[in-house]
Amino acid sequence: MPAVRNVLVVGGGSAGAATAILLADAGISVDLVEIKPDVTALGSGITLQGNALRVLRELGVLDECLAEGYPADKVVLRAPDSAGTVLAEMQNVRSGGPELPASMGMYRPTLARILMNRAAAAGVKTRFGTTLNAIEQDDTGVEVRFSDGSARRYDVVVGADGLRSKTRLLLGIALETKAVGMGIWRVFASRPPEVTSSELFYGGPCYTAGYTPTSQESLYGFLVEDAQDRTGLSATEQLDIVRRLAAHYHGPWDAIRASITDPGTIHYTWYETHLLDPPWARGRVVLVGEAVHTCPPTIAQGGAMALEDASVLAELLLAADAVDDELWDEFTVRRYGRVKEIVDASLQVTQWQLDQVEGDIPGLMTRIAELASRPA
Ligand SMILES: Cc1cc2nc3c(=O)[nH]c(=O)nc-3n(C[C@H](O)[C@H](O)[C@H](O)COP(=O)(O)OP(=O)(O)OC[C@H]3O[C@@H](n4cnc5c(N)ncnc54)[C@H](O)[C@@H]3O)c2cc1C
Repeated sequence: MPAVRNVLVVGGGSAGAATAILLADAGISVDLVEIKPDVTALGSGITLQGNALRVLRELGVLDECLAEGYPADKVVLRAPDSAGTVLAEMQNVRSGGPELPASMGMYRPTLARILMNRAAAAGVKTRFGTTLNAIEQDDTGVEVRFSDGSARRYDVVVGADGLRSKTRLLLGIALETKAVGMGIWRVFASRPPEVTSSELFYGGPCYTAGYTPTSQESLYGFLVEDAQDRTGLSATEQLDIVRRLAAHYHGPWDAIRASITDPGTIHYTWYETHLLDPPWARGRVVLVGEAVHTCPPTIAQGGAMALEDASVLAELLLAADAVDDELWDEFTVRRYGRVKEIVDASLQVTQWQLDQVEGDIPGLMTRIAELASRPA
């Protein structure tokens, strides 16, 4: 019999939904609280690589994701010249195994909907617009008080509540999140038919400008600049900045730029980083995903790491006969080194870009592809 019978998951992002699905599938009673009022996610895209697709397959949602997203095996490099000249087409490694595409672009709200529907089908009881206000634990369980005034006792609590995790805060864990000096504009737009994979432009006013298809009809574009205070801009001013930055890039960017007319599809955020030293748990409360690690998306692996955390945590929780330090040590031994390599590599690419030096990107990408190809 597993050591846990009932679990609370805090946060319905990729890490939380995946943990909840895997535990509920195994017969554990799972409650999930999500602070947002419904199934939403930031309205832009995400690139999920083979190792993330491996977890989506484990969750039983891979086919639906591939049908609604946009799988690809290559990436195209273009010049920031007046024709958007193609410089190279590179095949990406199928890190999830030969039967899975190298990567898949997807609209974040679509991924969120698929995962939360699957969680509901697995029997996860989700309460939206709800968070936890207090936790108190002893040797046998965790007493949780919720923002709606209710309270319940759990065998284990999983904090999957992202970058500024309240669960982490309630545990009294101090973790400094640092800005790395870059900011990214992301925009959801129409896919020109000739765009069939991620395309990247280096040079020009942005560190990176590019786009990734998210479905037959759509893509997300991104423009990475020096971090600056972009708060307080009106919607029209945001639209204007994005169109002005994108005007330096051509080829498919010309059609994409023309299709960007709705400021509601635009998001701006700074690149940030943190990584919690082991252990990632205190007593019977464990943290996963961005609650413990975040990094700039320069190698597009953060979401994959969050999904892998969920997969490994569920495997270990279901096999454990006690919730103790040994279990959490095993969890962080499986996760910390792998996640640190991803965080360090993402920061290395960021630093090369900030310093405008040509680092060994091919060597780094080969090393990361080998790492991602190994099971989590
Ligand atoms: C600009 C940018 C681009 C990125 N691009 C990629 C990419 O292409 N590929 C990739 O793999 N990764 C990418 N990432 C990283 C990826 O987005 C994250 O690693 C991933 O979303 C982390 O998932 P998570 O479930 O841990 O956190 P989140 O997705 O942040 O989910 C946390 C959830 O918890 C909820 N929550 C928050 N507080 C509370 C609370 N107090 N109570 C209850 N619920 C709460 C939130 O509403 C949210 O639903 C990118 C990140 C950034 C910033």
